[in-house]
This record gives sequence, C-alpha cells and structure tokens, in this order.
Amino acid sequence: MSATLSPFACDVCGSMEAAEIPVVPDYSGGQTLHTCTQCGFVFAHMRRSDEAIKKDWAESMFGDAFDVEQTENTGYTGYTAKVPAVTARLTYALENFDTLVGFKGKKVCDIGAGEGDFLEMIKSRKNPESVFGVEPSVENCRLLDGMGISCFAGGVEEYIAHPDTKKGAFDFIGLNWTLENTQNARRVIEAVYDLLPVGGYLQVATGSRILVPFKKPLHYYFNPRNPVDLHSFHFSANALCGLLGSVGFDPIHVNRYIDTDYLVVIGKKMESGAKKPWPRDDYTRVIAFFERWKKETDENYL
Ligand SMILES: [Zn+2]
Repeated sequence: MSATLSPFACDVCGSMEAAEIPVVPDYSGGQTLHTCTQCGFVFAHMRRSDEAIKKDWAESMFGDAFDVEQTENTGYTGYTAKVPAVTARLTYALENFDTLVGFKGKKVCDIGAGEGDFLEMIKSRKNPESVFGVEPSVENCRLLDGMGISCFAGGVEEYIAHPDTKKGAFDFIGLNWTLENTQNARRVIEAVYDLLPVGGYLQVATGSRILVPFKKPLHYYFNPRNPVDLHSFHFSANALCGLLGSVGFDPIHVNRYIDTDYLVVIGKKMESGAKKPWPRDDYTRVIAFFERWKKETDENYL
C-alpha cells in the first residue's frame, strides 16, 4: 500500500472538500476514509490511479482479499456467489424489482454479472425478453457462456465505449453489490444512463451500513488487509438517491433499508438534462455516527 494516493472529488456532488473520519484508521490498518463536507457522502477521497485499482481487482477479486465475515462464516476462501448469504441478497434484489415493476418481457442487463446467478434466476423464473451480462472477469464470462447467457468481457465504461454497443438497448440494468467496488461511481451511473432509453430502469443494491442501526462491528466492516479504494463508496440512502438524481434518474423506490441488511434503490431514467434534487447528509452527523459505531464495537465485540 505504498502506492501514490491522490485526492478525488465527491462522486455525489463533485466537491473536493472532505473531512477525514477519525475512527476509521483504527480498523483499516491506518488507511483513511473521508466524508464530503457538502453532502456527507462517505468515500475513499485519497485513492490510487484507476489503473492501479483495476489491476488490483483483476488479481485479488477471486483471491483471498475478500470479506472477512463471509470467509469465516462459510469456510469458503475468497468470493463466490454460491454461498447462502449471497444467494439470499440476490434473491432479495430480484424479487424487489419483480414485485414493484416486473422483469416480464424486458431486456435485462446485469453489470458485474459475476458467476451469472442473478441473470440465471431471472431467465428461469421471470420470463424476460433477454438477459445479458457485463463482467470484467474472463473466467466468469466463460461460465456465463456455458449457461447460454451472452456477455461482454470488461467493465461498463469499456462496454459503453465499444463501437458495437447500442445505446438505449436495455429496459432494465442491475448493479448488485457492484457500485461500491467500482473505480468511479459517477462514471458508472452515467454509462448506465446511456445504455437505457428514457423510462428505462436501473436498480442499485448495496450493503448499506451508513446512518442505519449497526448491523456488524467495525472490525468486520473493515479489513486491514484490503486497500480502502477497492471499496471506495459507502452509501447512505440520501447519498445513493442523490447520485442517481444528479445523473438523471428519478429514484422512484427506496426499500425499507432501516431494518433490512440491504439498501436497494430503483431509478427511472428521466428526459435528457433532467435532474432530481435530493436531501444531503450532514457530514458532522456522519462523523458522529462512526464514533457511536466505534463505541458499540469496542464495548461489545472486542
Ligand atoms: Zn459531496
């Protein structure tokens, strides 16, 4: 972790002004996280270059640098979608959209399709017109091919830049526990915007732990072995809706995240140029939230 770090602007509001969250380095091996002083978004303000982060993901995503809790609880080393916790959260995301809007007859795309579980569930249960994956891992793309699911091997920014990509070609795009691990959350949402027609749907699902009751202790939330810029973004409901609204999505549904492990927001693409203003978080409250979280962790779990 001796790589050069440089400051990045807030992905939600664009401000360069950020305050360090004092308690984080105690659990992250000395690495820092910041909160935007303008909108309260929690993010890795100091990051390596896009290239360095991308290289790290390619080498460690399916290696051993993943979630401590998952590894300890399941006995699996490294990340796989075949564990009960992952199946459960993908099922939640699937049924959330299917109940509120519906996959039937839709052209569906999953960004960060992984091992294809989400698309396979839609394909076999929900009668979509088609399913398609965008997935950086070549190994996973081979799995998807084997399941009869077409895919693009690469990230969404490469996909949107590819000459064969048709803009506005999907009715639904899913980002399942993916946006927090991208290099630039705003650019990803902008690419998704271009891939949808006006009225098309984006659903973002993430493991929100910000400004909600504490669901796990801080030393489970951070892993000192993982560079913080491999998971740069930590969303509250306001931050996620604010990001979607500022790119051009109307956040038409926010799940009941307060007593659910997940934060899931459905955005509907608005006409070109339209924005949806959303309440910001107060960064002093964000810092106080982390302080309370530290107190809970230290008193009860360490
Ligand atoms: Zn901001």
